[in-house]
This record gives sequence, C-alpha cells and structure tokens, in this order.
Amino acid sequence: MEKIDTIIVGAGLSGIACAARLVAQNKSVVVLEARSRIGGRILCPAHQIFFADLGPSWFWPMINPEVSALVRYLGLKSYPQFEQGLALFETKAGDVQTVSGCPMEPPAFRLEGGMISLVKGLLIRIGAEFIRLNHPVCEIRRHENGCKVSVGHLDQPPRCTLSASNVILALPPRLAARSILFTPDLPSDLTQAMLKASTWMAGHAKFFALYDKAAWRSMGLSGQAFSQRGPLGEIHDGSGACAVPYGLTGFAGIPALRRKDEKTMSRAILSQLVQLFGPDAAQPLELYYQDWATELFTATEYDKRSCHNHPEFYPPGGKTSIWNNTLHFAGSETAGQFGGYLEGALVSARRAAAAVSE
Ligand SMILES: Cc1cc2nc3c(=O)[nH]c(=O)nc-3n(C[C@H](O)[C@H](O)[C@H](O)COP(=O)(O)OP(=O)(O)OC[C@H]3O[C@@H](n4cnc5c(N)ncnc54)[C@H](O)[C@@H]3O)c2cc1C
Repeated sequence: MEKIDTIIVGAGLSGIACAARLVAQNKSVVVLEARSRIGGRILCPAHQIFFADLGPSWFWPMINPEVSALVRYLGLKSYPQFEQGLALFETKAGDVQTVSGCPMEPPAFRLEGGMISLVKGLLIRIGAEFIRLNHPVCEIRRHENGCKVSVGHLDQPPRCTLSASNVILALPPRLAARSILFTPDLPSDLTQAMLKASTWMAGHAKFFALYDKAAWRSMGLSGQAFSQRGPLGEIHDGSGACAVPYGLTGFAGIPALRRKDEKTMSRAILSQLVQLFGPDAAQPLELYYQDWATELFTATEYDKRSCHNHPEFYPPGGKTSIWNNTLHFAGSETAGQFGGYLEGALVSARRAAAAVSE
C-alpha cells in the first residue's frame, strides 16, 4: 500500500492551499478530488480569455488579508466591481423602477482570469502531479499510525485504499458527515455539529450572460438589479476589467426545491433580462447557468432549504483535529473567521497545514 505523509480530501481552494503549504515543507502529499476538475465551488467557464465566475466573484481587500496576500503573491490583477449608474428594482407584479444604486461596503473586487486563477496560480508554483481527480473518498479508518482512506462509492467495493500519517478534510463538514464513513464512529455530537454547519451558497444558483456591448451602461444603468418577481433575485455587472466581454451576472431568487431544469431556467432568465435591460439583452454571446444545489460534491439535501443569512462558522464541535491529531478539519466552513468565504478557506488551510507540521 502506498505510504503518504498527508492525504487531503478535496481540491477546492482550501485543499490546494493546504497542499501548497505542505509541499513547500517537502511533505509527501496526495489530494483526492471527487470531481473531474479542481476548484470546488470556484467554477469559471472560459469564453476566449475571459473566465465567468459561476461560484465566487468577489473578494474584499479591506477585510480579506489572506486572499489579498495570495493575490499579491501570485501577481494577479484585481479590479473593482462596476457600480456606476442607477440600479433597477422589479416588483412582484413585474413593474420595473429605477432606483439609486446600492454600492457594496466595503468595496468588492473581481479578479482578472476569474477566481480560478487563485487555484491555478498555486498549482503552477507547486505542480499538479499529486492531485488525483475522479477520486471520491467514501471511507476513512483510523489505524495505529494514521488513517486509511478508501476511494469509490459506498455501494461498491473500494477502488483503492491509501494510507497516510495525516488526513485533512478540505471539504464542507456537512458534506463529509453525509458522504464519508468514519471508523471508529465519530462522536455523535461532532457528527451533529458537522451536519448543522450549512455549506455557504450550496443552495444557490448563479448565471452569467456575456455581451459584446453593455447596453445598460449607455442607458445610465450600473447593471445592478433586485427583483421580487424572479427568476433572478439579484443581478450585477460582471464585465471584464478592460470591458469586453461585458457581462451581467447574479443569483436566482427561487428556492432550490422550486427551481426548474437548466433549459427552462435559462429561457426564463433571458426573458427577465430583456424585461429589465431591454431587447439587446436577448442575445448574449454566452449564457452560463449553474445550480449548486444539484451538485453532489457541494450540496446535500439539507442545503436545498437555502440559507440567506450568513451563519456563524467555527470548527465543528470546537475541534480542529481528532483521532490523536491525525484527522484534521479544513474547508471554509470550519474557519473561525470569514467562514464560508474564500478568506475562510485560506484561514482554515493555514491552520490545518500548521497542525500537520507540528
Ligand atoms: C454561487 C457562489 C457564490 C459565492 N460567492 C462568493 C464570493 O463572492 N466571495 C467569497 O469569498 N466566497 C464566495 N462563495 C464561497 C466560496 O466559493 C467558498 O468559500 C470556497 O470556494 C470554499 O472552498 P473550500 O475549499 O473550503 O470548499 P469547496 O470549494 O467546496 O471544495 C471542496 C472540494 O472537495 C471535493 N469533494 C467533496 N466531496 C468529496 C469526497 N467525498 N472525496 C473527495 N473530494 C470531495 C469537492 O469536489 C470540492 O472540490 C461563493 C460560493 C458559491 C457557490
């Protein structure tokens, strides 16, 4: 059986940031990722050289020191969220009113190259050969010198089992509690704490429409809109730093359990964009739509009841490591500060990597 210092479960920002820290200390690391791609909730389909953020789009330099430091370290370029002009408000009855804009406080910034450039930038520096895609972890067993990690689906024999001195769970704790078998059993209060930590934004759906011109800007609009009618509840300008392509992006306002399939939602989104921004919105260069609530490796049934208020996050049951410091919690929802956000993913990665290095 292959022997490894640390197995990291999940190749989202927290998992890759943990790996980067450990590789820098010459530890042998394997990252097991269930999906066929890296990034987790960071997802940025490419349109030529523009990357449309279907997961996180913003960071807040004034309150996100870890993300800001990573942006600087990787030499990435950020630009402020476009907010010049008036906003729109659509009532339940479908009346559209012009209102003064609602600037973000503190100011929010986007990244050229999309948020995926954080993950790609780290991988360019440390290499990607230790990442194993299409490797869903289904079982973790404690043994005398660490943990054994099995890959596969619970209803089938494991595809492979790896052994390591440490395991870092770099995924939402609720998802880990729902989809991974732990032997010996985790204490029931810990399992409950993991299940109760809702996965931030997992119940949401996001769209991104790209255009070769920004008709809304020439009408004096910022692209910001709020709607009581839907299907979109909140819209923002998502254009590139140097304008083209221009973009509108935002979130569905319909709860996960009532959302329709992608084709139906996309049709309804386009018709709402026309209602709000006029006929030029009817023919985007691209329309991307991602319903995170349907993603097996992000959301559970519990996440379909959308959580709109940002919860307080902390390590599950107050624990950052268990099993005699061989099984460690990372993932944004385990961070004591900025939990749920990109900043929390980096805070949790710093803590878990330090625990492994002790
Ligand atoms: C629509 C949306 C908008 C958002 N907007 C913002 C924003 O503007 N600003 C901000 O700061 N944050 C935002 N967030 C939150 C941000 O995306 C997350 O905080 C961050 O990406 C979490 O990273 P993570 O590594 O902790 O978790 P994840 O990105 O969820 O990574 C977990 C990884 O584990 C993998 N995995 C799951 N189960 C298994 C398994 N059994 N075996 C192996 N691998 C597994 C997953 O595939 C995934 O790659 C948003 C999120 C969404 C969905």
